[in-house]
Amino acid sequence: MTGLPRSRRRDLLRGGVLVTFGAGLGVVGFAEAADVVDRKLPLRGGAASAVVPGRPDLLGNGRLEANWFVPTGRRIVALTFDDGPGPDWTPMVLDTLHQRGVPATFFMVGERARRHGELLRGRLAGHEVGSHSWAHHDLARLPVEEAYEDLARTHRELVAVTGQEPRLLRPPYGHLAGSTLAAAVRMGYQLVLWSQQMREADFPDDPAGQARRIVADVHPGAIILAHDVGRRERLVSLHALPEIIDQLRARGYEFATVSQLLAVRR
Ligand SMILES: [Zn+2]
Repeated sequence: MTGLPRSRRRDLLRGGVLVTFGAGLGVVGFAEAADVVDRKLPLRGGAASAVVPGRPDLLGNGRLEANWFVPTGRRIVALTFDDGPGPDWTPMVLDTLHQRGVPATFFMVGERARRHGELLRGRLAGHEVGSHSWAHHDLARLPVEEAYEDLARTHRELVAVTGQEPRLLRPPYGHLAGSTLAAAVRMGYQLVLWSQQMREADFPDDPAGQARRIVADVHPGAIILAHDVGRRERLVSLHALPEIIDQLRARGYEFATVSQLLAVRR
């Protein structure tokens, strides 16, 4: 790279860091990484703060909470389902939850809610709807205005389709960075990650094994991640759901939406 004109070199460095931040830094090397730092990372997107100078009004109340679980001694957990709604599995998940009287939280993708909203009609009583972005793009890699527009559009769609005002955001890929955070605080959202997740790869076609694992690892206040859309392998978790619910109940666990769980802390 040293043989390149300085301006061209700067473009390459900027492109490399923008496109492959994280993995890319190791490739750039120390001296060049320092060069990048000197030149400043983009303030309004990606890894930078994404704060728009002089516009504190774009930062909601100036405070954002991220929740992986809720510290409590009470045996209570929140089941969460990401990436839906979808025609293949979402109705089955809703059936299982309905049969057992279990509330859950669905982190929905806006454009899927628009396409498959009829699956949800009359079926969300007792459940919570959160945002999982419009099309599952990594908000952390978008300029902050685009990240905000993505969330605002998703919010409008979810209100129209579900009748609920989302208060929670689970960022795609769980990626937290400048644009994600700035857009979320502007929306007045709380961030929700997870402390436990389904392990489809460990239990191919073994719902009983999947259920045992979740039940063995559970802890009071857990937020448990599952998906109601995706690769076929994920089905094992949804088939394990009845057993997971029954076994957790047998151990004295109650189920709550994420917002109900968060209220336990306060
Ligand atoms: Zn997702």
